[in-house]
Amino acid sequence: MIVKIICPKCNTEGSFSVVESSYNGPYRCWKCKELFTVKMENNELKSCEPLSQDEFDRQQEIEALKAKFKQH
Ligand SMILES: [Zn+2]
Repeated sequence: MIVKIICPKCNTEGSFSVVESSYNGPYRCWKCKELFTVKMENNELKSCEPLSQDEFDRQQEIEALKAKFKQH
């Protein structure tokens, strides 16, 4: 499903797709390119924390690994 998210920095509405109703992972604003960690429960945004580039890369690796495991 597609979840809408308002960037806390530039107030631009963006969206990303999630597999489950809960999500805890990286998000990058398409407009200002700011990085965040978003936490979602039952399609509701619970928190949105600023994220460094290093941390973003690390989280993306974890997400990629998770996706890999799901395929097997
Ligand atoms: Zn933004």
